[in-house]
Amino acid sequence: MKGTKEKLIYEKTNFWKASSEKEKKEAFDFAEGYKSFLSNCKTVRETINYTREVLNNNNFVEMSKSANDKRVFTVYHNKSMLAAVIGNKPIMEGVNVVAPHIDTPRVDLKQNPLYEDSITSLGMMRTHYYGGIKKYQWMSTPLALHGVVIKRDGELVNITIGEEEDDPVFIMPDLLPHLGADQLKKNVKDAIDASQMNVIFTSIPHLDNGVKEAVKYQALVLLHERYGITESDLLSAELELVPAGKARDTGLDRSMIAGYGHDDRVCAYTSLKALLAAKSGKHSRTSVVFFSDKEEVGSEGNTGARSSQFVDFICELLKTNGEQYDSYAVRKTLMNSQILSADVNAAINPNFPSVHEKDNAVIMGQGVSITKFTGVRGKGGSNDAHSEFIAKLIRLFDKEQVNWQLGALGKVDQGGGGTIAKFLAVHGADVIDCGTGVLGMHAPYEIISKADLYSTYKAYSVFYLKDK
Ligand code: MN
Ligand code: MN
Repeated sequence: MKGTKEKLIYEKTNFWKASSEKEKKEAFDFAEGYKSFLSNCKTVRETINYTREVLNNNNFVEMSKSANDKRVFTVYHNKSMLAAVIGNKPIMEGVNVVAPHIDTPRVDLKQNPLYEDSITSLGMMRTHYYGGIKKYQWMSTPLALHGVVIKRDGELVNITIGEEEDDPVFIMPDLLPHLGADQLKKNVKDAIDASQMNVIFTSIPHLDNGVKEAVKYQALVLLHERYGITESDLLSAELELVPAGKARDTGLDRSMIAGYGHDDRVCAYTSLKALLAAKSGKHSRTSVVFFSDKEEVGSEGNTGARSSQFVDFICELLKTNGEQYDSYAVRKTLMNSQILSADVNAAINPNFPSVHEKDNAVIMGQGVSITKFTGVRGKGGSNDAHSEFIAKLIRLFDKEQVNWQLGALGKVDQGGGGTIAKFLAVHGADVIDCGTGVLGMHAPYEIISKADLYSTYKAYSVFYLKDK
């Protein structure tokens, strides 16, 4: 019988082989907008500022100001955001949520960062890294300084240094190999101590001979001249070092993108694009995007996925839509909802294939990844989605011709990780991880395929059409 083999055997599909020329062109075109987003949104706040502007330009209204609006959003503490397009059915019958995180591993400045090195008389900044990084990857690479300083009178000063062509960049210098004998004997994990991750900030001293630590003082003079800030203002600042420069095509065929923060801004961009395309008239269920903060440090705090803002937003949605919004209604809505925990997964790295089991791993260019469970040591700490939900999701992706693949995070007992899936699942909704495969996750420059970027966008778009 013709087609029996195709029916019986599961094989991943290479997007570039299976797609039409038109679709391949769409994937390439889609990547241009994404690269610009990734180049311009390197911090949580920058991502929120960008998102707020895009939502405003696309007729979304802040929930607090809305009266019967069908496109609404709320930003919490300038760090997290929920947005929705209200569908035709009552919200209490359940909503479809795509939930990426918008924080990214980075190197924060300490609260009291500036000092003058007594031996070299260099002006230095102390740092405290954020998220699970391999420290050595961040040494001797150009970094840009991004962030905000909130002055005592409440004035907010934005700082971005290192992104323009003629901006200076910052470096945490690693040790030269010639004198690295002791360092090279260490485990990679211990090769760089966190106390060695200080960044060189300045080197010219103030010329007044009466000033102690004249290089540090001159750095403060410059900061005051340029930004009107003092050393004491730095104590309440959020300043972050991130890899300098723009996201770029990689590969001779330009089929991939190298950039900082694909984890998880690739899922943020694609989910936002999918939400913008959602139409009240066309979608029976309400479509929601949830950008959470602090995933890389455990989803804690009042902007992390564990906070009550998600439930709060659902409550506000019910109220705005003129529905019952008591505790019962909110809980029923959550129980009836379905959620894609939109996060990246580790694609097989051709240089390190042994950490994966190839038949259960993500392969770059072969579609958006569906991940049933994450976790460590026997699925510990994972959401482990239900069969019923996965089957329906795959049926939908097949019907809508989304290029998808199933992928676990590494081979059993190799390590593991978690996502926000389990924090959202506690509310009773069906949740599954679904996102883009990444090479070199948490490195200063990560790689994704334009095919998977586009497939992720398509997956989120059609998910918003999914009924229960
Ligand atoms: Mn992630
Ligand atoms: Mn991560």
